[in-house]
This record gives sequence, C-alpha cells and structure tokens, in this order.
Amino acid sequence: MLIVMRSDARTEDVEKVIKVIEALGFRGHAMPGESRTAIGVTGNRGAIDPAHFENLSGVAEAIRVTKPYKLISRDLRPEKSIVKVGNATIGGSELAVIAGPCALENRDQVFATAKVVAESGAKFFRGGAFKPRTSPYAFQGLGIEGLQMLAEVRDQFGLNIVTEAMDEHGVDAVAKYADCVQIGARNMQNFSLLKYAGQIEKPVLLKRGLSATLDELLLAAEYIMAEGNYDVILCERGIRTFAQHARNTMDLSIIPAVHRLTHLPIIVDPSHGTGHNYMVTPLARAGVAVGADGLIIEVHPCPEEALCDGAQALTPGQYLDLVQQVTALHELVAEPAAIAAG
Ligand code: PEP
Ligand code: MN
Repeated sequence: MLIVMRSDARTEDVEKVIKVIEALGFRGHAMPGESRTAIGVTGNRGAIDPAHFENLSGVAEAIRVTKPYKLISRDLRPEKSIVKVGNATIGGSELAVIAGPCALENRDQVFATAKVVAESGAKFFRGGAFKPRTSPYAFQGLGIEGLQMLAEVRDQFGLNIVTEAMDEHGVDAVAKYADCVQIGARNMQNFSLLKYAGQIEKPVLLKRGLSATLDELLLAAEYIMAEGNYDVILCERGIRTFAQHARNTMDLSIIPAVHRLTHLPIIVDPSHGTGHNYMVTPLARAGVAVGADGLIIEVHPCPEEALCDGAQALTPGQYLDLVQQVTALHELVAEPAAIAAG
C-alpha cells in the first residue's frame, strides 16, 4: 500500500499515519518529495483495507501497489533521488565520477592514484580492501590496513570514499572508514548482507549481479530500503552473455529502464563491463549518453603490474582524457536546449 499525503499535510499528519501503520503491525516509510510526501507500507502479506487511512487528516489517497517493489518505485517518489555521499551527491545534475584502483595494493600505488583522481576533478575515490576473487590463491586485499589508507586519502585529497564490503563484518568496517559501502555483483542477492546494509547510516552502491534481471536488481535495492536505508545507488557493471569479445556485456538499455521505474540513481562501470582497457572510454561515453548518473572507473599508475584487473585499468593519462570527454558529453546530454541553440 502507498499512502499519498496532500501537499498541505503537516508533519503531525505524516506521523499519525505512520502510527496507524505500526498499530496494524506493519512499517511505514515516509518519502518526502518536492510537492508531497508519500508513505510506503511494508511488512504486510495480504492487501490492507484503504479505509484505515482514507479519513485521516492530510491523506490524499491510499493506493494498492500491485508491482513487486514499493519503495524504489516512482509511484512512491516521482522525482529522482539525490543521494548524499560524504560531502558530494550522486543523482543530481552533476555527473558523478568514482575512480581508483581495483584493489588497494600499497601506499605508493594508492596515493599516486588518488592524486590523479583529485586532479581530474572527480569527487569520489574507489579501491577494494576486501576483494572477491575467483581463486582463493589470488590477492585478497589489504583488509583493515587498506581502509585506513582510504581514510587518509579522504583527509589528504578531500575525496569521498567508496569501497566494497563482502560480509556483515566488512559492512561495519567499511561504514567506519568510508563514505559509501559497495555491494559487489557476486553479493547482489546475498539477502542477509542486503538486510544488514539496510540498517547502517551510510549510502550503499549496489552492483548488478552477474546475470541478474532488472527486477532482481530492483528487488535487491528494495531489501536495503525496506530496512530503512533509502540511500541506494544502482550500478550496471555488465552481465554474462554468449559474447566472447568482452569480459561482460554492458547492458546500456537498463539505464532508461531504471529511470522509468525507480527514483534511485544509476551509474555505469565500463571497466568491469568490458574488461578491456581500449573499450573503457568508448563505453563510458555511451553510458553518459544514455543518461547514467555517474561512472565508476578503474585506474592504476602501472596497469601491467596491477595485482587485480590490470587488463581493464586505465593509465593516469587515459583516465584524465576520459574525464575530459565525458564531462563535455554530459554537458550536451544534460542540456539538450544548448545543442539546439548551437
Ligand atoms: C569491483 O568494483 O572491484 C568489483 C569487484 O566489481 P563487481 O562486483 O562488479 O565485479
Ligand atoms: Mn576490479
């Protein structure tokens, strides 16, 4: 059920509706919007009688929701969500660039990369301290030591930190040191992890599973939001298909589909989405052209020496060039009127 409040509803009216929802044994999620607040109800198994709400002060209408998701939906919040990450935002008019190495390897590599990322004007730094590796013998990441380096990067360069957590302990550690908790493709349907991430007070970057459908991605986001954390950013990072020429197939059509169904922002990851250095910049441009709210890009001072994902890492020079290109393109895409005016 979705309860839409009138535009002149008062805070007390919203609180009263939430009390009635709780008295029925359910949970109410108030989503303030530009013109009105809507309240999503979760926890009910069957239909709820709208009569419980219709006559309460400030209520415009109580609507049955027939879609499998509620809180991510544009029905609940017609305008796009702008998610605050540290001292910056994702989902607003600015293109968010998150860049850094796949894995944090050592101080020299981390700080050299952070310097380039800061120079590029990007506001977010990425780098895995806990790495999900296919082989148990591959480099697994620096763990807490890596997170401490990330905290230093934030202090030194003013960059907001995005890094992956693979389990509940990792979520606590990442939430302590970083500004945004990344949940990786392999964990997109780790439901206990999603619920746990729903209880923290840091935004979550949720990457699409290796072969997840749009509905599965949206329902994974719904898991986080149903626990009360509404700060979720989605990420298209390529899916597995029969194509052999790229590591994954970047599914760009998911971007407009996501914007149609949900108010949540979505970014694209052309590094994992292609797996090849030479494809990263063209696919970054493509992502921006179809309306992505941002990009996540792997950069390494010396890709051939990278301990993880070297084949898809950009050199600092290539990365700086990419940022110039996507910034120019974003200006065109974001303001079509400017193109018409020539
Ligand atoms: C990553 O961003 O480093 C990563 C492991 O991504 P994914 O979960 O998309 O494979
Ligand atoms: Mn990687």
